[in-house]
Amino acid sequence: MIVGNLKPIEEIIENISGFEHILILGCGSCVTVCLSGGDREAKRLAKRLSHIRYFNQSPPRFDVKTIQRQCEKDLIETYLEIPPGTEAILSLACGAGVQTVADAFDAMPVIPALNTTFLGAVDAPGIWVEKCKGCGDCILTRTGGICPVSRCAKRLFNGPCGGSRNGHCEVDADIPCAWALIYHRLKKQNNLHFLTDICPPRDWRTGGSGAPRTRKRTGIGHSPEDFSP
Ligand code: SF4
Ligand code: SF4
Repeated sequence: MIVGNLKPIEEIIENISGFEHILILGCGSCVTVCLSGGDREAKRLAKRLSHIRYFNQSPPRFDVKTIQRQCEKDLIETYLEIPPGTEAILSLACGAGVQTVADAFDAMPVIPALNTTFLGAVDAPGIWVEKCKGCGDCILTRTGGICPVSRCAKRLFNGPCGGSRNGHCEVDADIPCAWALIYHRLKKQNNLHFLTDICPPRDWRTGGSGAPRTRKRTGIGHSPEDFSP
């Protein structure tokens, strides 16, 4: 899932200043699961922002809605009704959702309420951990399902740096060394031979450092046989 955190309230107040009627828009997918941008958080934010102390005069009027996915333009255009008189949308989606809403309602300012932080997973209740950088050429097969691109502080591809102490990373002792995890996982799977296969230099053009990446499929909406990769 995409993990995001609510921006500091002062920044949100500054960004919405000047608007008198704002739609606070929650997103029902990733940011609901990470407890930062769902319906409950949208309602809480509206309540918090409605406090007079944040404004010189009376607070703006806030409406609250939540849509299942803000990152789907079709869905937004079909189901999202903007209340009459709305001057701006304060979106609790990730950056992709904010941009999709902004594209769908391009005459309306769309303001992000979250900082989108990473692609991660829930490791334990209340703990979200970055797991993938979307590098576009996944190597999890040879690393026992543990990603060195996102979980090794030095993004090493061919084993550990040598600085690990008691299974923890030398860059941050609070995080496990990804390569220690990989070693133990591969050992458990009887696949330690992967550690001696040298991984050649990567072609990082798949990694998002160039132009925005796009995925295209044909046959969407027709029979499955129509799909081409
Ligand atoms: S190798 Fe790349 S695609 Fe696979 S989990 Fe890591 S960052 Fe994501
Ligand atoms: S200690 Fe482990 S996780 Fe940290 S940089 Fe070195 S190899 Fe990567």
